[in-house]
Parts: sequence; C-alpha cells; structure tokens
Amino acid sequence: MKKISLLLATLCVVACNRHINHPPKMAHFSIPFETNDNKTLTYHEAIACYEKMAAAYPNMFHLSKVGSTDSGEPLHVAVLNTSGEFDPEKIRQSGKRILLINNGIHPGEPEGIDATILLLRDYLEKTALQKALEHLVLVIIPVYNVDGCLNRGPYSRANQDGPESYGFRGNARNYDLNRDFIKCDSRNARTFNQIFTTWLPDIFVDNHTSNGADYQYTMTLIATQHNKLEAPLGQFLQETMLPELYADMEGRKWEMIPYVDSPKETPDSGIVGFCDYGRYSTGYAALWNTIGFMPETHAQAI
Ligand SMILES: [Zn+2]
Repeated sequence: MKKISLLLATLCVVACNRHINHPPKMAHFSIPFETNDNKTLTYHEAIACYEKMAAAYPNMFHLSKVGSTDSGEPLHVAVLNTSGEFDPEKIRQSGKRILLINNGIHPGEPEGIDATILLLRDYLEKTALQKALEHLVLVIIPVYNVDGCLNRGPYSRANQDGPESYGFRGNARNYDLNRDFIKCDSRNARTFNQIFTTWLPDIFVDNHTSNGADYQYTMTLIATQHNKLEAPLGQFLQETMLPELYADMEGRKWEMIPYVDSPKETPDSGIVGFCDYGRYSTGYAALWNTIGFMPETHAQAI
C-alpha cells in the first residue's frame, strides 16, 4: 500500500509543478491499516473517510455521487483541487492537468482504496506537499466495484496471504469490470464511461494487485503502450515520463519493473508486454489519448 502511495505521489510530482496553499485545520484521519497491516477498509468505512475529508476541507475537496452500479449504489467521485474549482470544463480551461485514480475494480486487490486515502490525507494536511498540485487536479473513484467490495470475506483469493478480509472480484452480476470498459454490460461500466468522458483525464491510474505471478519485485507497472497514443504524447510517455517514474521509485528504494505476460503458462516460454485492449482500463484510456497506468502490487503468496 505504501508503494502505491509512493507511485501516486511520484505521478503527481512528475505530472505537475509547484505551489503552496493554506488549507483550514482538520482532524487527523486514520485507517485500520495503520495499526494492523492485515486490515483494509470496508466500503462504508472508505466512503465515510471521504465524507469526513470533504466536510473538513470544502474549499479544496469535493465529493459527489454519480450514476449507479449493479449493486444499486451510486459511484462516488472525489475531486481535490487546491484552487477550489470543481467544474471539469472550468478546470480544463484553467490549464490544469487532470489525474483520474480508480480503486477497487477488483476488491480483493484493495491497496489502492487505502493508499489513496493516505495520499489525500497527506495533501490535505501537509501544506508543503501541495506545491505538487499547482497544475494538477486529482479526481478519484474511491471504490469502483462497489458490489464486489460489499461482498466481503477471507476466502476468495486462496493463493493470497492476507488481508484478513477483502472484497470479491466479480460485481453484483459477476462481471469482471476490468473486461467491461467498452462492452459496458455492467451499470458500473456505463457510469464509469460517464465519469471518464466528463473529466477526460490526462492521466488515468487503475490500482491492482498481481495475483497470477510470483514477481520478485513489490511493484510492477503496466503503462499504456506508447504507440497507441498520438505521437508527441506517446513519445513523452516512453522517453520522459516512464524513465522518470522508474528512476524515482528506485530512488525511493521501491524499484518497479514492467508487468509482463508469458506466451504459455511459465516464463520458460519467454515474456511479452501485456497487450491492453480496450476492454481493459489502460487500453480504454488510450482510446481517449489518455496515458494509462495499472500498478500491480505484489500479492504476498502463501
Ligand atoms: Zn486486478
């Protein structure tokens, strides 16, 4: 979870520049992970955190409900903008870049839900860090697969050691939402499309945990394939942004490697880059010429 926080913080620094703001005083928010690293927030605990932050910082943090999901619950969208504007069109006109973070698409991979709250808490409470948000607005879906997050238990990821309780991969109708971005069989995906096309983010981060391979590195990363993006943007991603992200994470002692696939079941058959078609989050983002990242933190295998 700390690794996702670091990567998100790094993205904010790389994606924008400097400024100081002076937010109002607020109470300290804590989450269960900080006293027990085998615990993650439930859906209702996570939303309660966002509601408290929005109430404490109305001038820079805004929370709203959008559309519906197959669970019947709406999606929440949080916006952190140090200059206090929450209208997407006006934000774009101001020249600020928009970073959209999606959490809990696979609720058994919950780190992003917790890590984003810790990141937000840092930005809200630590004035000096807000210089990273001078030219950047964070837009956050706290939990995308609300349905799966409500379907909580300890047994659906048998090869994963912890946390002690977590959500289920499928949504209320058992769709894997990370296969549904352009197909839109789920209400979740239809609402997501509404959110994405409202905000049209410059960068999109979809937080995951790797559960299919025993990587030696804690943090792996799928980036949009650069040649899917318009040439200047793809070139910027490949030649500037990715080298900076990898170097920064190495400097923070959490070296990343690219998330790879193997043509057959084991790496003996070789390794290939992950091909993110439009039904996956980063492939979907590329359809809108948005840089997409899928951090996959390593699941501690049993
Ligand atoms: Zn996943």
